Amino acid sequence: MKTSGLNTLCVHAAHSPDAVTGAVAEPIHLSTTFERDADGEYPRGYRYSREGTPNRTALEGCLAELEGGIGAVAFASGLAANHAVLDLLGAGERLVAPLEGYYGTLRQFAEITRRRGAALELVDFCEPSAVKTTLAGGAARLVWIETPANPLLSVTDIRLTAALAHDGAALVVCDNTFATPVCQRPFELGADLVLHSATKYLGGHSDVLGGVVVVRSDAALLERLREWQRMAGAPLAPFDCWLLRRSIATLALRVRAQCQGAQRVAEFLAAHARVERVFYPGLATHPGHAIAAAQMRGGFGAMLSISIAGGREAALRVASRTRLFRRATSLGGVESLIEHRASIEGPATRAPQNLLRLSVGIEEPEDLLEDLAQALA
Ligand code: PLP
Repeated sequence: MKTSGLNTLCVHAAHSPDAVTGAVAEPIHLSTTFERDADGEYPRGYRYSREGTPNRTALEGCLAELEGGIGAVAFASGLAANHAVLDLLGAGERLVAPLEGYYGTLRQFAEITRRRGAALELVDFCEPSAVKTTLAGGAARLVWIETPANPLLSVTDIRLTAALAHDGAALVVCDNTFATPVCQRPFELGADLVLHSATKYLGGHSDVLGGVVVVRSDAALLERLREWQRMAGAPLAPFDCWLLRRSIATLALRVRAQCQGAQRVAEFLAAHARVERVFYPGLATHPGHAIAAAQMRGGFGAMLSISIAGGREAALRVASRTRLFRRATSLGGVESLIEHRASIEGPATRAPQNLLRLSVGIEEPEDLLEDLAQALA
């Protein structure tokens, strides 16, 4: 897909005026049940809303087009989408997953592999030699990457990892939540499945929880995930599907503006005396910058972390003083957020105690810089 066509796709993918009324904006269908014809058939394709609804079809079609896959399966949260993929793991099979990633996902890996008798191997995906050794050590069913990753924005080379994983016939799963299809297109680099916490940039307004798995090309795999969606009974509700589809119309506009803002914020913070280090793939000083420049063709994203000189107390003090940056967890909304990551992740956290994570919104970058300057003063 041409990146210049992205706004057009965000507006029009799997969307056309309502066939019955001509409504240009998508109607919301809340009905849980759908009428059979006199012959007992369901020619319109809907029967009961757990199995499928018009708003879910619209959202899933849109996300499949945006990522360049054959289909998508939407769930009630990002973790529910993860769970559907983890259900592919059988007893005795191997999951190769990142050392650095969203802590809720890492917890799922540990619990689900333990309960099913599957093997979990954590690897530093920034170290190609470690990845090679791990993947050469035995066949893996799933190789799971998150890039850029929580909380240090580490970058995984998707193409290289996918090539190594495919040598062993593993499925490559890429969590594209931080990058979005605006910045990064994992299917073009070899991923088999793309995951999103739709709660973040796809929703974009911090008012809807959702998750999605997109399948690149394997129809049987898509059907297996759809079966899980029906069986687990945790699909995304019609209104949430509608909210997400509506938000995706402005996804590229928002994310491009957020990336520009994040670059300005990162450069400002990198030059600030009270900031020890800035973790942002758009800075040449970031260890993953070269890989990010090659694979994040649409931008470096709008998430960054900073370590504050003076330790935990100094970091908490900075967070306590911001006025525009809201002190809240999550990310990807139009409003900027700041968070002391170790506090939310608890005792098992890998986040340094002096680390603050920033989600840059769509506010004017000058206003954000002013806010950070006064908070750091
Ligand atoms: N993946 C990433 C990268 C995340 O940051 C999150 C949540 O923060 C999730 C998955 C889980 O998504 P959800 O909170 O929608 O369940």
